[in-house]
Amino acid sequence: MAYDVTLIPGDGIGPELAEATRRVLDATGVKFNWEIKNAGIDEMEISGSVLPQDTIDSVRRNKVAIKGPITTPVGKGFRSVNVALRKELDLYACLRPCRLYKGVRTRYDNVDLVIVRENTEDLYAGIEFKRGTPEAEELIEVIARLGGSRIRPDSGISIKPISEFGTRRIVTFAFEYARANKRKKVSAVHKANIMKHTDGLYLEVARQVAKEYPDIEFNDVIVDNMCMQLVQSPEHYDVLVLPNLYGDILSDLCAGLVGGLGMAPGGNIGEGIALFEPTHGSAPRYKGLNKLNPIAMILSGVMMLRYLKEFDTAERLDKAIADVIEEGKDVTYDMKLDHNDPTAVGTAEAADAIIRKLQEL
Ligand code: NAD
Repeated sequence: MAYDVTLIPGDGIGPELAEATRRVLDATGVKFNWEIKNAGIDEMEISGSVLPQDTIDSVRRNKVAIKGPITTPVGKGFRSVNVALRKELDLYACLRPCRLYKGVRTRYDNVDLVIVRENTEDLYAGIEFKRGTPEAEELIEVIARLGGSRIRPDSGISIKPISEFGTRRIVTFAFEYARANKRKKVSAVHKANIMKHTDGLYLEVARQVAKEYPDIEFNDVIVDNMCMQLVQSPEHYDVLVLPNLYGDILSDLCAGLVGGLGMAPGGNIGEGIALFEPTHGSAPRYKGLNKLNPIAMILSGVMMLRYLKEFDTAERLDKAIADVIEEGKDVTYDMKLDHNDPTAVGTAEAADAIIRKLQEL
């Protein structure tokens, strides 16, 4: 049997990483019918759309997809394609394991965390009002009338919705994940001391859900404190469940603990549908240079294999990656002690090394 999977190469370094990942996944022996669909800035130049309907339809039909990163212009231009895909397909849970592989250069010796980030709400929902527009002015008046404080008239406004429904769904996902994967503790991250009606609601609902899982330890940590705790002693944490924005930021922090963005995979999961992608972005400066690390995207492929219940193959591929990292020879520059190490290999060659290891196992 072959799996129908949508492959979205993305833009920037995406296509190089997607090609490396596709070759590695094909080399596992599991059969895939790749439906290659485009999205991103290159696609915009071709078809005038950053996210063609055909691409969304393909993911909806196949129910499994893997994608490379896609650029979002900073402070202007079109809205994030990544956010649009997650919202459109209701991929509400972003799962990002951060595990330290032997041989990775890092200050830590024991990190095995899982980030569970809510993917559809919070400041990331993209509900925004541009400074000086009639809508922003009206909103400022409404807020003043309703007894909120007077917002400066030259303000832009982003809205932070957090619902009971969305929170219950993501915290339940985190506990179910913990139970299914023999994890011991779930920590809810928030700023409920300040944002009482959004993060406060999040915390209240998280505490209610935690009561349904007496077999799993639960605690809550304020987000700023959590940043410090993670940098000092990440071994004290296990599964972290966070609203969208904190989840975004702490994902990169945790990637830093385990060797950097080149080592951080992810999956966006909904009801019966999943899209896997690395945590990192499109690193446009490196586009076409065959330089950056394909491991984060290949590890996203390992997550996809597990999602497809190809557990033995997932373990074999994970071991092949671990062996290549531990040998430390055929790895990209970010995995070398000295970033200018001339023995660092390129994206394609790192994938070749993983394929060779796969064939030995
Ligand atoms: P980025 O993650 O693209 O890159 C930041 C830095 O991290 C790079 O300069 C590089 O040094 C390092 N890095 C990233 N990927 C790496 C890899 N595979 N191997 C080794 N090192 C790696 O972050 P950015 O520069 O802030 O964002 C660039 C673009 O990507 C933006 O438009 C942003 O919106 C977008 N983005 C997309 C996604 C996504 O597609 N899901 C996620 C994050 C950012």
